[in-house]
Amino acid sequence: MQGKIILVGTGPGDKDYICPRALLALEQSDIIAGYKTYIELIKTLFPEKQFASSGMKKEVDRCVEVLELAEAGNVVSLISSGDAGIYGMAGIMLEIVAERQSEVPVDIIPGISAATSAASLLGAPLMNDFVTLSLSDLLTPWELIQKRIRAAGEGDFAVALYNPRSKTRIKQLDTAVDILLQYQKPETPVGIVKQAMREGQQVVLTTLGELKNADVDMLTTVIIGNSQTQVINGKMVTIRGYRL
Ligand code: SAH
Repeated sequence: MQGKIILVGTGPGDKDYICPRALLALEQSDIIAGYKTYIELIKTLFPEKQFASSGMKKEVDRCVEVLELAEAGNVVSLISSGDAGIYGMAGIMLEIVAERQSEVPVDIIPGISAATSAASLLGAPLMNDFVTLSLSDLLTPWELIQKRIRAAGEGDFAVALYNPRSKTRIKQLDTAVDILLQYQKPETPVGIVKQAMREGQQVVLTTLGELKNADVDMLTTVIIGNSQTQVINGKMVTIRGYRL
């Protein structure tokens, strides 16, 4: 029996937002591995499965374990929330497979990322060019993140902010707002989506000028409009210019 690794994006939370191909992969897996919070979300769907869950900041150990299980002949799904290739587990898994010169095949199944699930709840804020920025400086130096925020402002991109604020990382969001205010008006629409497609979902519209005071945490995605973003009938819409 040849084993296999499947990197599965499980979307924002609710099972209706997991694509059928991903559900099939999970169903056909011998073992499902991932960060424990995401495993909890999936567990109820597959009560018969074997699970391998681990804590946060254990990403490398998790990948090594997955590889070893696959090399022993198991089909192992490694899950990420949203899309596995967007701030998820796909990159590090591929690195470790290569590093160990393993012949185990790796499949990658895409998922609905937080930017698009949040955008759909807000309206259509990502209609034109946009960027995603993670404000987590755990793996990326804060200097580089600030440079990218400036570039996003200069390019008049709409911005989807992942990992916007944690209990210990509070100031980054405020600095990001100060940088973007050098390029965009304080009235620029901002959408705040907490727990998209999960229990406790919250959707709030505010402005760039007010964003610092908003309730934002690690379960939140913040979408900041560009110069063409408006609020139309309560929906955040980035005008693309069809009617020019
Ligand atoms: N791979 C994931 C992102 C992981 S980074 C994806 O593609 O969506 C973790 C960050 O994603 C969180 O800090 C938050 O900003 C965002 N996020 C993930 N799921 C979310 C959800 N259901 N609602 C709002 N934001 C979410």
